[in-house]
Amino acid sequence: MIVGVLALQGDVREHINSLSDCGVSAIEVKSLAELERVDALVIPGGESTTISKLARSFGLIQALRARIKAGMPTYGSCAGLILISERVLDAIDGQEGFGGLDVTTRRNAFGRQVDSFESDIEFKGITGPKFRAVFIRAPWIEQHGDDVEVLAEVDGRAVAVRSGSLLATSFHPELTGDNRIHRYFVDVICRDAAKVGA
Ligand code: GLN
Repeated sequence: MIVGVLALQGDVREHINSLSDCGVSAIEVKSLAELERVDALVIPGGESTTISKLARSFGLIQALRARIKAGMPTYGSCAGLILISERVLDAIDGQEGFGGLDVTTRRNAFGRQVDSFESDIEFKGITGPKFRAVFIRAPWIEQHGDDVEVLAEVDGRAVAVRSGSLLATSFHPELTGDNRIHRYFVDVICRDAAKVGA
C-alpha cells in the first residue's frame, strides 16, 4: 500500500515520517500523477486557505474531490480536517475545499495562534494511555451527520471523527512522536476500505 501526503504546504515531512514508522510506503503528492499512484492520502495541518489556493493552481482540486468521494481512505489533520469538511464556518470568502466528510467545522474555533494548547485526550479506537494532542489555531467540529462517529472530544467539542473511509482530527499527531493515530488510519481505516473494495 502506498499512502500519499498532500505536499503543498504544512507538516508534510512529519506525516511522511509517522507513516513510514507504521511500515507503509509514504510519498509526497503534489501532482495528478502522484495522486493516481496512492491508495490513501493524508492532508496535513498548515493553513487551509493556502493549501486550497495551491491545490487549485496545481490543478488538483477536482481530482482530490473525486478520489475522496470514490472512497479513497483519507485522513485530514487540522487544516486537512477543514479541507475535507462539507461545511466550513469562518472560512475566508471563496475558500474552496475538497469535501466528503459530512460535518460542519469551525475554523480557528479554539482561538488564535497564541491560544494553541496541548491536552491529553481519550481517543476511541486506540489502546494505551491518553493521547497527547497538540492544537494549533485549531478548528472544532460543530455538527455532524448520522454516519459520522465522534472519536474524541475536548470540552464537549468533537475534535476527532471517522466516517467510513475518512478520518479527521483537529489536532496534530505528527508532532508528538506517538504514531497510534497514524497506525489507526493505516491498520483500521485503510484495511476496512480495502475489504469493502475487495
Ligand atoms: N487555522 C488553520 C486553517 O484555517 C489551521 C491550523 C492548523 O492546521 N494548525 O487552516
